[in-house]
Amino acid sequence: MKLDFSDERVMAVVAHPDDAELLCAGTLARAKADGAAIAVCVLCRGDKGQPRKKLAKLSAVRRKEAACAASLLGARVFWAGFADGTLADGPAQRSKLIEVFRQFRPTLVFAHAPSDYHPDHRAASQLAEAASWFCASRGHSTCSPAMRTQPALWWMDTLGMTDFNPGFHIDITKQVPIKEQMLACHHSQLSRGRDPDFSDLTQLMRRQYRTRGLQAGVAAAEAFCAHVAFRRLGAF
Ligand SMILES: [Zn+2]
Repeated sequence: MKLDFSDERVMAVVAHPDDAELLCAGTLARAKADGAAIAVCVLCRGDKGQPRKKLAKLSAVRRKEAACAASLLGARVFWAGFADGTLADGPAQRSKLIEVFRQFRPTLVFAHAPSDYHPDHRAASQLAEAASWFCASRGHSTCSPAMRTQPALWWMDTLGMTDFNPGFHIDITKQVPIKEQMLACHHSQLSRGRDPDFSDLTQLMRRQYRTRGLQAGVAAAEAFCAHVAFRRLGAF
């Protein structure tokens, strides 16, 4: 069985500028190769992703790094600009993300799993689920018109694969080079690998795509789980 993303419009909604690279970039690249339109919405600006004294204007640096990674994929980037560590599911945040959905009009959304380890990721999960429902509700007014129907929603794997039971795996063996190139754009984070309180992201990513690949009998894979809810499953 092989999924074909050719008629899809796929948007990853992530908390931080490097999350898409770690958790779904291989699948986004596969979708792009099939002919799908791709977008990444980064909710937080990455301003606390490094000790403040080390790098001035970190948010601007991380925005450029995210743009660099997305350009390798030919993806549109939406930058919501919320501060790290403060993300919450509230009316203002929903309204902002609803408008993002209405501008791109995705048919399939990737979002952090509700069980994710990171508080910003869990908030992003709730926010993405709510906004990707209300984007098709005409009662929720934003600048752009409501979508005709809600997009399907897939939960992404968690970093380190804890507390996440994959519903299915996507073979990304051919997309490993671009996934690695995209992560390599995040110089500010990769340089933190020497910090004792920070993980080596490249190693972490490799272990994860190889482990998910092992589970699925391929060299590399990304794991997802469909959001099993009314109007959210889609058929592929
Ligand atoms: Zn993150």
